[in-house]
Amino acid sequence: MAHQRFSPRVFSLLLALVVLSPLLNRVGGRGLFVSGPAPISHAAEAETAVDTAVSLDFLPVDSQDYLENEFCQDSLCPPGGWQQWIIVDAESAWTAVQLTAVHHALVETFAALAEVGINGRHLLAGYRFRYQPGDRLNGRQESIALARHEVQEIILTDSAFTVQAGFSIYHELGHAVDNRLQRQLTVGFIDLIGGGEDYRRENGYLIPDGYWVRTQTRHSPYEATADAFGVWVTIRTSPAAAPIFHTTPPDISYRAISLAVETTLRQAAAIQETERVISGK
Ligand SMILES: [Zn+2]
Repeated sequence: MAHQRFSPRVFSLLLALVVLSPLLNRVGGRGLFVSGPAPISHAAEAETAVDTAVSLDFLPVDSQDYLENEFCQDSLCPPGGWQQWIIVDAESAWTAVQLTAVHHALVETFAALAEVGINGRHLLAGYRFRYQPGDRLNGRQESIALARHEVQEIILTDSAFTVQAGFSIYHELGHAVDNRLQRQLTVGFIDLIGGGEDYRRENGYLIPDGYWVRTQTRHSPYEATADAFGVWVTIRTSPAAAPIFHTTPPDISYRAISLAVETTLRQAAAIQETERVISGK
Protein backbone atom coordinates (compact mmCIF):
# COMPACT_ATOMS: atom_id res chain seq x y z
CA MET A 1 0.00 0.00 0.00
CA ALA A 2 1.18 3.43 -0.87
CA HIS A 3 1.30 4.96 2.58
CA GLN A 4 3.77 2.35 3.77
CA ARG A 5 6.43 4.10 1.69
CA PHE A 6 6.38 7.10 4.02
CA SER A 7 8.51 7.00 7.11
CA PRO A 8 6.71 8.13 10.30
CA ARG A 9 8.68 11.35 10.16
CA VAL A 10 7.58 12.15 6.61
CA PHE A 11 4.06 11.08 7.42
CA SER A 12 3.79 13.48 10.34
CA LEU A 13 5.18 16.27 8.19
CA LEU A 14 2.52 15.59 5.57
CA LEU A 15 -0.14 15.47 8.26
CA ALA A 16 1.06 18.81 9.60
CA LEU A 17 0.86 20.32 6.12
CA VAL A 18 -2.70 19.07 5.66
CA VAL A 19 -3.74 20.44 9.03
CA LEU A 20 -2.03 23.76 8.44
CA SER A 21 -2.99 24.25 4.81
CA PRO A 22 -6.09 26.42 5.42
CA LEU A 23 -3.90 28.66 7.53
CA LEU A 24 -1.12 28.71 4.94
CA ASN A 25 -3.65 29.66 2.32
CA ARG A 26 -4.70 32.63 4.36
CA VAL A 27 -1.16 33.80 4.84
CA GLY A 28 0.03 32.84 1.40
CA GLY A 29 -1.70 35.47 -0.63
CA ARG A 30 -5.25 34.31 -1.22
CA GLY A 31 -6.47 37.35 0.62
CA LEU A 32 -6.84 39.61 -2.38
CA PHE A 33 -10.38 39.99 -3.60
CA VAL A 34 -11.51 36.57 -2.49
CA SER A 35 -15.20 37.38 -2.33
CA GLY A 36 -17.50 37.01 -5.30
CA PRO A 37 -18.45 34.07 -7.46
CA ALA A 38 -14.98 32.65 -7.95
CA PRO A 39 -11.62 33.27 -6.35
CA ILE A 40 -9.56 35.63 -8.45
CA SER A 41 -6.16 34.85 -7.08
CA HIS A 42 -4.77 31.38 -6.77
CA ALA A 43 -1.51 32.64 -5.40
CA ALA A 44 -0.98 30.03 -2.73
CA GLU A 45 -1.44 27.11 -5.09
CA ALA A 46 0.59 28.73 -7.82
CA GLU A 47 3.46 29.55 -5.55
CA THR A 48 3.89 25.94 -4.56
CA ALA A 49 3.11 24.39 -7.93
CA VAL A 50 6.05 25.77 -9.88
CA ASP A 51 8.90 23.38 -10.49
CA THR A 52 11.96 25.02 -9.06
CA ALA A 53 14.41 22.37 -10.23
CA VAL A 54 15.32 24.38 -13.30
CA SER A 55 18.70 24.21 -14.95
CA LEU A 56 20.16 27.64 -15.60
CA ASP A 57 22.68 26.16 -18.01
CA PHE A 58 20.36 27.09 -20.88
CA LEU A 59 21.09 30.76 -20.23
CA PRO A 60 24.06 33.02 -20.96
CA VAL A 61 26.16 33.61 -17.86
CA ASP A 62 25.07 37.24 -17.43
CA SER A 63 21.42 36.16 -17.57
CA GLN A 64 22.05 33.56 -14.88
CA ASP A 65 23.70 36.24 -12.77
CA TYR A 66 20.84 38.63 -13.29
CA LEU A 67 18.20 36.08 -12.35
CA GLU A 68 19.99 34.91 -9.25
CA ASN A 69 21.16 38.25 -7.93
CA GLU A 70 19.04 41.08 -9.31
CA PHE A 71 15.73 40.00 -10.78
CA CYS A 72 13.96 39.73 -7.42
CA GLN A 73 15.05 43.14 -6.16
CA ASP A 74 12.35 45.68 -5.33
CA SER A 75 10.36 42.97 -3.50
CA LEU A 76 9.35 41.53 -6.83
CA CYS A 77 9.29 37.83 -6.06
CA PRO A 78 7.07 35.62 -3.95
CA PRO A 79 8.84 33.08 -1.72
CA GLY A 80 9.70 30.80 -4.65
CA GLY A 81 12.06 33.37 -6.17
CA TRP A 82 12.45 34.32 -9.82
CA GLN A 83 10.99 30.97 -10.91
CA GLN A 84 7.60 32.37 -9.95
CA TRP A 85 7.80 34.85 -12.85
CA ILE A 86 10.19 33.45 -15.43
CA ILE A 87 10.15 30.20 -17.38
CA VAL A 88 13.60 28.91 -18.25
CA ASP A 89 13.95 25.99 -20.61
CA ALA A 90 15.95 24.97 -23.65
CA GLU A 91 13.78 27.13 -25.95
CA SER A 92 13.94 30.24 -23.78
CA ALA A 93 17.46 31.63 -23.86
CA TRP A 94 16.62 34.93 -22.17
CA THR A 95 19.17 37.71 -22.42
CA ALA A 96 19.93 39.82 -19.37
CA VAL A 97 18.46 42.84 -21.19
CA GLN A 98 15.16 41.05 -21.70
CA LEU A 99 15.04 39.92 -18.09
CA THR A 100 15.70 43.50 -17.03
CA ALA A 101 12.80 44.68 -19.20
CA VAL A 102 10.41 42.19 -17.57
CA HIS A 103 11.67 43.15 -14.13
CA HIS A 104 11.13 46.81 -14.92
CA ALA A 105 7.64 46.22 -16.35
CA LEU A 106 6.59 44.28 -13.25
CA VAL A 107 7.99 46.90 -10.88
CA GLU A 108 6.26 49.73 -12.76
CA THR A 109 2.99 47.82 -12.96
CA PHE A 110 2.99 46.92 -9.28
CA ALA A 111 3.81 50.50 -8.29
CA ALA A 112 0.88 51.77 -10.36
CA LEU A 113 -1.48 49.14 -8.93
CA ALA A 114 -0.35 49.90 -5.38
CA GLU A 115 -1.52 53.48 -5.86
CA VAL A 116 -5.06 52.31 -6.50
CA GLY A 117 -5.00 49.88 -3.60
CA ILE A 118 -4.19 46.64 -5.39
CA ASN A 119 -1.33 44.34 -4.51
CA GLY A 120 -0.13 43.45 -8.00
CA ARG A 121 2.26 40.76 -6.88
CA HIS A 122 -0.58 38.87 -5.27
CA LEU A 123 -3.04 39.67 -8.02
CA LEU A 124 -0.78 38.28 -10.74
CA ALA A 125 0.84 35.47 -8.79
CA GLY A 126 0.95 32.33 -10.88
CA TYR A 127 1.51 34.09 -14.21
CA ARG A 128 4.92 33.45 -15.73
CA PHE A 129 6.75 34.88 -18.70
CA ARG A 130 7.96 32.70 -21.53
CA TYR A 131 10.43 34.00 -24.11
CA GLN A 132 9.97 32.70 -27.64
CA PRO A 133 12.80 33.76 -29.98
CA GLY A 134 11.72 35.29 -33.29
CA ASP A 135 9.75 38.29 -34.47
CA ARG A 136 6.29 36.71 -34.43
CA LEU A 137 4.57 34.08 -32.34
CA ASN A 138 4.70 30.54 -33.68
CA GLY A 139 1.42 29.93 -35.45
CA ARG A 140 0.19 33.50 -34.94
CA GLN A 141 1.95 35.70 -37.45
CA GLU A 142 -0.10 38.74 -36.45
CA SER A 143 1.11 38.65 -32.83
CA ILE A 144 4.34 39.55 -31.10
CA ALA A 145 3.14 38.69 -27.58
CA LEU A 146 0.28 36.79 -26.00
CA ALA A 147 -1.28 36.20 -22.59
CA ARG A 148 -2.48 32.61 -22.29
CA HIS A 149 -4.72 32.66 -19.26
CA GLU A 150 -5.47 28.93 -19.37
CA VAL A 151 -1.83 28.17 -18.61
CA GLN A 152 -1.06 31.48 -16.88
CA GLU A 153 1.70 32.37 -19.30
CA ILE A 154 2.69 35.57 -21.04
CA ILE A 155 4.68 34.77 -24.16
CA LEU A 156 7.08 37.41 -25.47
CA THR A 157 8.89 37.35 -28.80
CA ASP A 158 11.92 39.50 -29.67
CA SER A 159 9.57 42.10 -31.14
CA ALA A 160 7.72 42.41 -27.84
CA PHE A 161 10.87 43.95 -26.39
CA THR A 162 11.72 46.23 -29.30
CA VAL A 163 8.42 47.57 -30.68
CA GLN A 164 7.38 50.79 -28.90
CA ALA A 165 9.97 50.28 -26.16
CA GLY A 166 8.36 47.07 -24.94
CA PHE A 167 4.80 48.39 -24.74
CA SER A 168 3.52 44.86 -25.45
CA ILE A 169 4.76 43.66 -22.08
CA TYR A 170 2.52 46.23 -20.37
CA HIS A 171 -0.35 45.43 -22.74
CA GLU A 172 -0.15 41.72 -21.86
CA LEU A 173 0.07 42.52 -18.17
CA GLY A 174 -3.15 44.47 -18.73
CA HIS A 175 -4.82 41.30 -20.06
CA ALA A 176 -3.57 39.37 -17.03
CA VAL A 177 -4.83 42.00 -14.59
CA ASP A 178 -8.18 42.11 -16.40
CA ASN A 179 -8.42 38.32 -16.23
CA ARG A 180 -7.67 38.22 -12.53
CA LEU A 181 -10.21 40.97 -11.95
CA GLN A 182 -12.77 38.86 -13.78
CA ARG A 183 -12.97 41.40 -16.63
CA GLN A 184 -13.96 44.23 -14.35
CA LEU A 185 -11.20 46.33 -15.90
CA THR A 186 -12.66 46.01 -19.41
CA VAL A 187 -16.27 46.37 -18.34
CA GLY A 188 -15.54 49.39 -16.16
CA PHE A 189 -13.28 51.08 -18.70
CA ILE A 190 -15.74 50.74 -21.60
CA ASP A 191 -18.57 51.94 -19.41
CA LEU A 192 -16.63 54.93 -18.12
CA ILE A 193 -15.58 56.16 -21.55
CA GLY A 194 -19.11 55.81 -22.91
CA GLY A 195 -18.27 53.01 -25.32
CA GLY A 196 -20.03 49.71 -25.89
CA GLU A 197 -23.00 48.48 -27.89
CA ASP A 198 -25.07 51.69 -27.77
CA TYR A 199 -22.08 53.63 -29.00
CA ARG A 200 -21.48 51.07 -31.73
CA ARG A 201 -25.05 51.38 -33.04
CA GLU A 202 -24.49 55.09 -33.57
CA ASN A 203 -20.87 55.14 -34.60
CA GLY A 204 -20.00 51.76 -36.03
CA TYR A 205 -17.35 50.83 -33.51
CA LEU A 206 -17.10 50.22 -29.76
CA ILE A 207 -14.43 52.57 -28.52
CA PRO A 208 -15.00 56.34 -28.66
CA ASP A 209 -12.38 58.48 -30.36
CA GLY A 210 -9.63 59.68 -28.10
CA TYR A 211 -9.62 56.42 -26.16
CA TRP A 212 -8.12 53.96 -28.61
CA VAL A 213 -4.43 53.65 -29.39
CA ARG A 214 -4.55 51.50 -32.54
CA THR A 215 -7.22 51.26 -35.22
CA GLN A 216 -7.77 47.53 -34.85
CA THR A 217 -8.74 47.88 -31.19
CA ARG A 218 -11.78 50.08 -31.92
CA HIS A 219 -13.84 46.92 -32.30
CA SER A 220 -12.27 44.99 -29.46
CA PRO A 221 -13.03 45.96 -25.87
CA TYR A 222 -10.40 43.65 -24.40
CA GLU A 223 -7.63 44.83 -26.71
CA ALA A 224 -8.48 48.50 -26.28
CA THR A 225 -8.52 48.03 -22.52
CA ALA A 226 -5.18 46.21 -22.48
CA ASP A 227 -3.69 49.09 -24.48
CA ALA A 228 -5.26 51.57 -22.07
CA PHE A 229 -3.75 49.73 -19.12
CA GLY A 230 -0.35 49.88 -20.83
CA VAL A 231 -0.76 53.62 -21.36
CA TRP A 232 -1.73 54.14 -17.73
CA VAL A 233 1.35 52.31 -16.41
CA THR A 234 3.90 53.66 -18.87
CA ILE A 235 3.02 57.36 -18.82
CA ARG A 236 2.69 57.39 -15.04
CA THR A 237 6.40 57.89 -14.53
CA SER A 238 7.32 59.06 -17.99
CA PRO A 239 4.74 60.99 -20.04
CA ALA A 240 7.03 60.84 -23.07
CA ALA A 241 6.74 57.03 -23.06
CA ALA A 242 3.22 57.14 -24.52
CA PRO A 243 3.07 54.65 -27.40
CA ILE A 244 2.59 56.04 -30.88
CA PHE A 245 1.74 53.32 -33.39
CA HIS A 246 1.38 54.13 -37.07
CA THR A 247 -2.41 54.07 -36.64
CA THR A 248 -2.47 56.12 -33.43
CA PRO A 249 -4.69 59.15 -34.16
CA PRO A 250 -3.52 62.68 -33.36
CA ASP A 251 -6.60 63.32 -31.19
CA ILE A 252 -5.74 60.56 -28.73
CA SER A 253 -5.97 61.64 -25.11
CA TYR A 254 -3.44 59.69 -23.08
CA ARG A 255 -4.44 61.57 -19.95
CA ALA A 256 -8.12 60.72 -20.36
CA ILE A 257 -7.26 57.06 -21.03
CA SER A 258 -5.07 57.00 -17.97
CA LEU A 259 -7.69 58.59 -15.77
CA ALA A 260 -10.36 56.15 -16.95
CA VAL A 261 -8.15 53.15 -16.19
CA GLU A 262 -7.22 54.50 -12.80
CA THR A 263 -10.83 55.24 -11.86
CA THR A 264 -11.94 51.80 -13.04
CA LEU A 265 -9.26 50.07 -11.00
CA ARG A 266 -10.12 52.07 -7.89
CA GLN A 267 -13.74 51.04 -8.32
CA ALA A 268 -12.76 47.41 -8.84
CA ALA A 269 -10.69 47.52 -5.68
CA ALA A 270 -13.46 49.21 -3.70
CA ILE A 271 -16.27 46.85 -4.60
CA GLN A 272 -14.27 43.80 -3.66
CA GLU A 273 -13.77 42.61 -0.16
CA THR A 274 -10.64 44.44 0.88
CA GLU A 275 -8.39 42.57 3.25
CA ARG A 276 -5.10 43.68 4.64
CA VAL A 277 -3.11 42.07 1.87
CA ILE A 278 -4.52 44.51 -0.65
CA SER A 279 -2.71 47.46 0.81
CA GLY A 280 0.24 46.80 -1.36
CA LYS A 281 2.76 49.65 -1.15
ZN1 LIG B 1 -3.91 41.94 -26.60
